[in-house]
This record gives sequence, structure tokens and C-alpha cells, in this order.
Amino acid sequence: MAEKFKNLINGEWKDSKSGNTFENRNPAKWNEDLIGIFPSSNADDVNEAVAAAKKAFEKWRLVPAPKRGDILKVVGDKMTERKDEIAFEMTREMGKVLAETKGDTQEGIDTAYYAASEGRRLFGHNAPSELPDKLNLSFRVPIGVGGFITPWNFPMAIPTWKLFPALVCGNTCVFKPAEITPKTAATLVEIVDSAMREVLGKDYIPGVINIVHGKGRIVGEAMISHPDVDLISFTGSTDVGKRINEVAGGSLKRVSLELGGKNAQIVMNDADQELALEAVLWGAFGTTGQRCTATSRLILHKDIHDEFLAKLIDRTNKLRLGYGNENKVDVGPCVSESQRASVNDYVLIGKNEDKATLVSGGDFATEGDLAKGWFYKPTIFADVKPGMRIEQEEIFGPVLSVIKCEDFEDGINILNGTKYGLSSSVFTKNVNDACRAIRDIKAGITYINGATIGAEAHMPFGGVKQTGNGHREGGWTVYDFYSEWKAVYIDYSGQSFSGHR
Ligand code: NAD
Repeated sequence: MAEKFKNLINGEWKDSKSGNTFENRNPAKWNEDLIGIFPSSNADDVNEAVAAAKKAFEKWRLVPAPKRGDILKVVGDKMTERKDEIAFEMTREMGKVLAETKGDTQEGIDTAYYAASEGRRLFGHNAPSELPDKLNLSFRVPIGVGGFITPWNFPMAIPTWKLFPALVCGNTCVFKPAEITPKTAATLVEIVDSAMREVLGKDYIPGVINIVHGKGRIVGEAMISHPDVDLISFTGSTDVGKRINEVAGGSLKRVSLELGGKNAQIVMNDADQELALEAVLWGAFGTTGQRCTATSRLILHKDIHDEFLAKLIDRTNKLRLGYGNENKVDVGPCVSESQRASVNDYVLIGKNEDKATLVSGGDFATEGDLAKGWFYKPTIFADVKPGMRIEQEEIFGPVLSVIKCEDFEDGINILNGTKYGLSSSVFTKNVNDACRAIRDIKAGITYINGATIGAEAHMPFGGVKQTGNGHREGGWTVYDFYSEWKAVYIDYSGQSFSGHR
């Protein structure tokens, strides 16, 4: 019997009001491994969760920030204790290999400890007054109820980037995780709730964190249009992000959007080729290419193009596909049947419409046990030209487009030539080119001699152009999103305003 999961609303684990459910299955062994049954919630459940969060806010905002930070410290400790179990279950529900799900969990742990320490900072600014007997202060205050909507590719790291700073700032949370990865999300919320009970004891406040499972079109829509939700933090596709911006922005909610990417790695003719090869291999095919920071374009200087491509094809063909919880597996499955079908559609576009040259992969992987899951062969297209659809559109799968460039300027122009601007990478030993790349690349993240993937919890994460709406996750900047500034003037002159002047 598959385990049955519930929503957490107002401190109680409960079924959806409709009683509807959905299944969570292993994408590497679809028919064999049913992971759990989850509530398929609707607007009634969202309304109840938002009401609970609204009520809880009035108490939670008065808990001193260092105390809120203490809770996050306990969250970090509990996640550390359960790291292996969380990673194993994450691989089971979304397919990326164990080393990667351990990294995803560790990012959540790092974010917890960073947020815990921020409880003792949340610095404001003081400024001198124009008047002699007056004190000017400004400090951060919480905003209210936050709605959090997340994707499936980083089921732990991304929710923690949002929930932890929001909580430390004194906001309450209604969280809707992706339908594909509800178990990791349920574990996270269970950990946060148990840490709250432990630290607050008899002063525990129900409703500070709520999780409502279900479909984006139902639960997500109910959240973004709810009048008592004060802010929305969303990570996902650009199309859904635009919709959220319209609906939530239309009622003047504060909205943070982290959206798609079409990231590129440039390899110059003076680069360390071995280093660049490792980087593109994991940047393109790690997490089966399903990272917002995945390397989906490789821009090769013409002098090294043929040699580098030959080495890359050789290494790619040696990657081992399989269930990510088993040893010696490099690449897991696509997350779902429909995701794999969408990847294959793009491969057909690459072959038939763009007329690029398929040099590796390009088909479902179905040998032996791979037939049980949604596996796709790591795929490389050569002779890709700027402007082709496979060069412009986010594929979100194990497909790499290789483009030849004439020189450094040409490479930077190709890299910048899409509507997205998340991550980027340049391999070169020329310090001048490296510095020009840092200056001229239009992206939120630039790596020099490193792959496009990866993030550190205390650094700002996010992108420019259609990758987002200017906010960042991670680091110190996210605390600006989750707090309002209040300006305070203390007048100790004993004079009326007019007398003062
Ligand atoms: P998605 O947009 O389909 O779904 C994301 C979340 O939004 C899910 O929880 C989904 O249920 C919900 N949702 C769907 N429709 C909704 C609606 N109408 N109203 C409210 N919520 C709705 O994205 P996905 O397939 O889960 O994730 C892949 C996408 O996420 C890719 O485009 C990827 O680039 C992007 N992503 C971006 C970042 C980043 O930081 N920039 C990080 C990870 C993933």
C-alpha cells in the first residue's frame, strides 16, 4: 500500500476538502514504484490555509527575529540528520542521481544556516536628520502572507530559498510545490513545523507554515488571485511566470519571478580543454539537462571546434543512464513522460526544421531496464546557427546545441542573443577576455573557467531579461524582497511642527 500524504493547514495534517488525490511515481520505474498518494486540493483548501496564515501572522511578526532564526538553526540540524534519506527519496521522485540530490539537500541546509544567522542581522539604516532634535531610523518589517509556488527540478533548494528568508523576516507561508515532487516538499514542511514546535514549545503558533498540494491551474491560481496573499514568490516557466505577473501584479502583490534560461558556455582557443570538457558534460547532461542553469548551448572557437566536438561526442556516448539511486549511474530519466515527449519534439525540430546535424543521441533510451522509465539519450547537435529554434528556446532536457564562433566578440554576441539571461560561462586563459566577458555578458550569473551550473547559498541567484523580473534569490538581497522598509522619525525638540521650522 502506498503511503498517504496530507496538507498541513493551521498546524494540522489533513486531506483536501474534496477528498481528491493524485499519485507520485518514480520516473525511472514508472509502473513498479508508486511513492505516495497526495491530496489534490482546490480553492477551498487554499482559502483555509490563507486564513490560517493571516491569523498566524499577527503572532509570528511579534516573535523576535533572532528567535525565528533559532528555529531555522534547528531546521538545518534536522535536515543534516536526514540528508541521506531526503536525497534518496528525492532521486526516487524526480530522477536526478544521488550525488545531485545530496547537493540539492545541502543547498537547503546551507540556506537554513544562513537564514538562522540573518535573524541576528536584518540590518536597517540610520540617517542624520535635517533638524537638530530629531532622530531618523529605518528598519525592516514583515509583509504578511506569502504564496510560494515552486518547480520540480530542485525540490528542496528552491523552496528553502524562498521559505527560509520569508520566515526569518516574519512572514507566514502558504506553499504549493510542484505536483511531480510533493514528497520532498512534505518532508521539508514537516521539518520546519517540528522545529517550530520544539523551539516555541507552548507558544507554538499554528498556521505559520502551510502546504497545499495540487495542480498549478487550481491551487496556484487560487493563491495568486487571493486578496489576502500579500506576496508571491514563483520559480518555473516563463509562460506561467507571465500569467502570475498579470494576475498577482494586477492586485499589486509583491511578485518575485525566477524563470527560464538558455545558458551558454564559450570555449576559446586558449582554454584548458579538459576542464572545459568536464564542465560542458555535467552542465549539459547533469540533472538530465533539466536545470534552469543547464548548458544548452556550447559556443566553440573555430580553431578548436572540430577537435573539442570529437572529444565531447566520445565522452557523451560513454555516459551511463539508469536509476539515480544505483551505483555508477551518470544520468537519470526525464522527469515525466510528457517532459520526454517535449524533448523529443525539440530533437525533431532540430533535425527537420532547423536542419542541424545530429551527432549524438537523438532518441528514447529503451535498452533493458531503461524501458521502465522516461529515459532519453544525451543528445548533441552540431552546425547549429544563431536564431535556430533549438538555439533560442528552452528545451529542459539532455540536448546540447554546438555553435562555431569566429572570435571572442562573435562568441559573446551569440551568447547574448536570446531572450533569456540566467547563467553563462567562458573558458579562457586570457585575463583580458575574462574581464571583458564579465563586463559584456548579459546574465545574472557568469562563470569564468567553470560550468554554468551551481550556486552558493549566500550569493544572489537569478537572471536578467525574460529570466525574471529583477529580484534575486539567495544571498543578502532576498531579504529585501521579504521585508518592507519602515521610516521612523523621533522628535525630541518638544516643539510643534510649525515651531520647528
Ligand atoms: P511550470 O511553470 O510548469 O510550473 C512551476 C510551478 O507553477 C508548479 O508548481 C506548477 O504547478 C505551478 N503552476 C503551473 N501553472 C500555474 C498557474 N496557472 N498558476 C499558478 N501556478 C501554476 O515549471 P516546471 O515545469 O515545474 O519547471 C521548469 C521551469 O522552471 C523551466 O522553465 C525552468 O527554467 C524554470 N526554473 C527556473 C529557475 C530559476 O531560478 N530561474 C529554477 C528552476 C526552474
